Amino acid sequence: MSAQPRSVERIVEPEPVVEGAGVRLKRSIGTGTLDTLDPFLLLDHFASSNPEDYEAGFPLHPHRGIETVTYVLVGEVRHKDTLGNSGSIGAGDLQWMTAGGGIMHEEMPQLRPEGIAGFQLWVNLPARLKMTTPRYQEIRSRDIPEIHRPDGSTVRLIAGAMNGARGPISGIAANPVYADVGLPPGTSFACNVSRGQTAFAYLFEGQAAFAPGQAGAADVRSPALVVWSDGDRVQVSTAEHPARFLLISGRPLHEPVARYGPFVMNTRQEIEQAIRELREGTFIKGD
Ligand code: MN
Repeated sequence: MSAQPRSVERIVEPEPVVEGAGVRLKRSIGTGTLDTLDPFLLLDHFASSNPEDYEAGFPLHPHRGIETVTYVLVGEVRHKDTLGNSGSIGAGDLQWMTAGGGIMHEEMPQLRPEGIAGFQLWVNLPARLKMTTPRYQEIRSRDIPEIHRPDGSTVRLIAGAMNGARGPISGIAANPVYADVGLPPGTSFACNVSRGQTAFAYLFEGQAAFAPGQAGAADVRSPALVVWSDGDRVQVSTAEHPARFLLISGRPLHEPVARYGPFVMNTRQEIEQAIRELREGTFIKGD
């Protein structure tokens, strides 16, 4: 059986959103247009050199039932939680935070001349792991393999396998691929994405043709979310412009989603329980 190329199922234009204490960002998953893309619940893109767009940050807030993945391209985000964890995510670094049963944290972009740019992705947890112990994987830029492929593309591989390399993020229920792909002009990029995985590309620089030469081929300008249909392989090519995109895939859960702000559970009762525990001060679980 030959490998079936994935075609473009949908293109979503990111929507401007104000989040946290007043951070301006572009949201492409987790909106009225695209509520969820199982197992992905939210994708935010922040990019500004105007302090008014980001300095208010994301003061103390809870999460339960999900993983939040923060990838910084420019600037720095400091974080601190009520379990005593704290640190800083700088340019090229990534934090994969499994909130599980509950964390309370703050995420504060730092004022810098270069501003801030990056992404936050929310990945759902299966029912059996929603109340798991919180876990952080903090990956420094230097520990992310940079693959220079024969087709001319450069891939920073954060999770999953490609070209015999493996990204440093491990032990994630969704079995994700998370790659930052750069194409110079005149490049044809193709790679395998396992059949059955939900997959999308988030084009954040330049322009490119997705699924070129196939029915449903699309010429896309950044910023845009491109959702792939099912299949075995994705193809992207550039002409006179370069392109840079996140290529992300994950195993869908096919479970009920009950969502209320930073809590994502399976049932309304579990959401009500989280709200009650937050009010009563029993939200954070000890060891
Ligand atoms: Mn958060």
